Amino acid sequence: MKPTLIIGGGIVGMFSAYFLQKEGIEVTVVDRTDLLDNCSTGNAGMIVPSHIIPLAAPGMVTKGITWMFSSKSPFYIHPRLDFKLLQWCMLFFRSANENQVQKAIPFLKNLSLLSKALYLTFKTDHPGAALALQEKGLMMAYQTESMEKEEVEFAHLARKYGLEAEILTPQDIRNVEPNLELKARGAVLFPGDAHLDPGALYGFLKKYLEEIGVKFLPNTQVLGFEKSRSKVGAVITNQGKIETEKVLLCGGSWSGELAQMLGFGLPMMGGKGYSFIQKNQPEINQATILTEQKVAVSPYGDTVRFGGTLEIAGTNQKVDMRRVQGIFESINRYYPGFEAKFPEENQIWKGLRPCSPDGLPYIGFAPGYSNVLVGSGHSMMGISLAPATGKLLAELHQQKNPTMEIGGFEVGRFS
Ligand SMILES: Cc1cc2nc3c(=O)[nH]c(=O)nc-3n(C[C@H](O)[C@H](O)[C@H](O)COP(=O)(O)OP(=O)(O)OC[C@H]3O[C@@H](n4cnc5c(N)ncnc54)[C@H](O)[C@@H]3O)c2cc1C
Repeated sequence: MKPTLIIGGGIVGMFSAYFLQKEGIEVTVVDRTDLLDNCSTGNAGMIVPSHIIPLAAPGMVTKGITWMFSSKSPFYIHPRLDFKLLQWCMLFFRSANENQVQKAIPFLKNLSLLSKALYLTFKTDHPGAALALQEKGLMMAYQTESMEKEEVEFAHLARKYGLEAEILTPQDIRNVEPNLELKARGAVLFPGDAHLDPGALYGFLKKYLEEIGVKFLPNTQVLGFEKSRSKVGAVITNQGKIETEKVLLCGGSWSGELAQMLGFGLPMMGGKGYSFIQKNQPEINQATILTEQKVAVSPYGDTVRFGGTLEIAGTNQKVDMRRVQGIFESINRYYPGFEAKFPEENQIWKGLRPCSPDGLPYIGFAPGYSNVLVGSGHSMMGISLAPATGKLLAELHQQKNPTMEIGGFEVGRFS
C-alpha cells in the first residue's frame, strides 16, 4: 500500500497526520521548507470557541476601507493590480453580509467546540507535552464607546448561541489583571476560551509523529501532479516523483496555487501578521485582545507574546516595520506601566494566515477528485480549529461519517 501524502506541514497538516495515524494509515508529510517557516509556530496560540463570526462580516467592509489609509492599522489591503486579489476582494465583499454570517455561525461554533474538546483530550493523552495550555479564557478589552457597543452586542449574540460571556467593569478588570493597569472602559471575558504556546505544540507534534513512524520530507516542494480522471497517482516535487494512494492538501496560504495545479479554484490570500516576545514585566496575567488595535496578548508566565495586524498580502512575506510599530505602540496605550522594548528585526516573527474570502475553512474532498482532500483557509483560527479539521479529514479519508455536519466548509463552493 502506498502512503497517504500530506502536502504542508503546518498545524493543519500535523493534526491531520496525528488523526490519520490513529486510524492506522501510513503517512508522509512533504513541505517546501525546513518546517521552521510557516504560520503555525509564532502566532498568538489562542483557542477561541468565542470567535463565531467569520472575518467576512458586514462591519469589516467599512472598517477595512477606513483602515486602508493608515500604515499602522490592524487590517490592510495593499492596493495593487492583481487579478487573484480583485477576485478575492469581490468574493469577500459578497460574503460580508448578515445572511452569510448567520449561516456561518453554527458551522464555526461546532468546529471550534469540537476542536477545544479535542485539545483537552490531547492534553490528557500526552501529559508530557509542555504546551503551556491555560484555560483562563480570553478577555476582549475596549477603550472606546463604539467598540464597547460592538463587543457588548457580540457578548449577547454569543450567549444566544450558548457560549458563556461576562461583561467586566474596570474594577472587574483590576481583579483579573492585578499586577498592572489595563487602561480600558470595560471588557468582555469569554471563560470557555484558552491559549497555549504554539511553538511548543508544533515542536511536540513533530517529534511525537516522527517517533510513531510518520515520515517527513522537508525542503520538498510540490510542483505538479500525475493524475488520471478523478484520481491523483503521484505528486511531482523538486526532489522527484512520489507515488501515493491519497493526498491531503494542507498548504496554508499556498493552497490556492496547489488547487490550480489540480484544475480547481480555491480562492486564498495570505493575511500577513507579526508577533514578538517581551519579558513579562510587570506580569500580565490574562490572555487578552486589545480590540481597537486587534492586538493579541498571550502571557506565558515570565514572557508574553504580542501579535497582530492582518495585511492581505498574497504570499509576500516581507516584514513591514511600520506595522510592527503599530503593534508595539498599542502595548503602552493599554498597559501604560508595562516595560515594553522595541524588538530587533530578527526577533520579529511573521506568518501568512490562509484567508478564504468568506472566512470559513475549506474542509472536504476536492471537487472532481475521489482521492484528494483539502484542509485549509482557517484564517485567524488555524490553531484553534486544526484538531477538529484533522479529525474530520481522517474520517473522510476512511469513508466514515464525519463527527459533525461539514456542508459549510465545502471545498468547491467558489468553483
Ligand atoms: C500574528 C498571527 C496571530 C495568530 N494568532 C492565532 C491565534 O491566536 N489562534 C489561532 O487559532 N490562529 C492564529 N493565527 C492563525 C494561524 O496561525 C493559522 O491559521 C495557521 O497557522 C494556519 O496553519 P496551516 O497549517 O493552514 O498553514 P501553514 O502553517 O502556513 O502551513 C502550510 C505549509 O504548507 C507548505 N506548503 C505550501 N505550498 C507547498 C508546496 N507547493 N509544496 C510543499 N509544501 C508546501 C508551507 O511551506 C507550510 O509549511 C495567527 C496568525 C498570525 C499571523
